[in-house]
Amino acid sequence: MTIDAHTHNLEATDAIIAVEPNAFSPQPGKLYSVGIHPWHTDTSTDDDLMRLREAAQHPQVVAIGETGLDNLRGAPLSRQTEILERHLLLAQELGKPVIIHSVRTSQQVVQCCRRLGITVPCAIHGMRGNERVARPLLDAGFYLSFGPRFNPSTVLATPQDRLLIETDDTGMTIAQVAAAISPILHLTVPNLLALAAQNLNTFLVKNTEKVKQQK
Ligand SMILES: [Zn+2]
Repeated sequence: MTIDAHTHNLEATDAIIAVEPNAFSPQPGKLYSVGIHPWHTDTSTDDDLMRLREAAQHPQVVAIGETGLDNLRGAPLSRQTEILERHLLLAQELGKPVIIHSVRTSQQVVQCCRRLGITVPCAIHGMRGNERVARPLLDAGFYLSFGPRFNPSTVLATPQDRLLIETDDTGMTIAQVAAAISPILHLTVPNLLALAAQNLNTFLVKNTEKVKQQK
């Protein structure tokens, strides 16, 4: 059962492991997302985008990302937007969902998806913002993925069928993350883990349906 929506720990199990295209080296039984992190957009090349396209088609790659926009780090936002668009269009073409990093750019991310007519599921990972930041994302149908640092009122504002949890680069276990979030939702840790697994499964399965439709 896949529970952890986003980790950089290559050894993780029950998780979607996020890797850069040039570091993609799939291990048996593991699931991946591939993407060029917004922080690396200032050095990324057309070759990296080609490798992204290749890796993205691998059956163990179940999502695209992490991609996104960061107003505090990486290339100028115009370049970051260009690269985000490439990821979104690729995800749409392949029918795979997208894992998005967004720092002070939630409106721009939503606009980008709207402009391109993106219909595959999108999740904002490491959601820390308040409800005001989350609102446009939730209204656009995004999933929100929470790690150990989160705004409790945003967790409560997230529809329970669009709530994901993640360990990211914290080194924590997913059970520890669930233990931090579960009291907010008045859920037991096992119940939150089950809910997160079910939601992540839907997030991933929606894309398979899309692929089937296209064939
Ligand atoms: Zn990450």
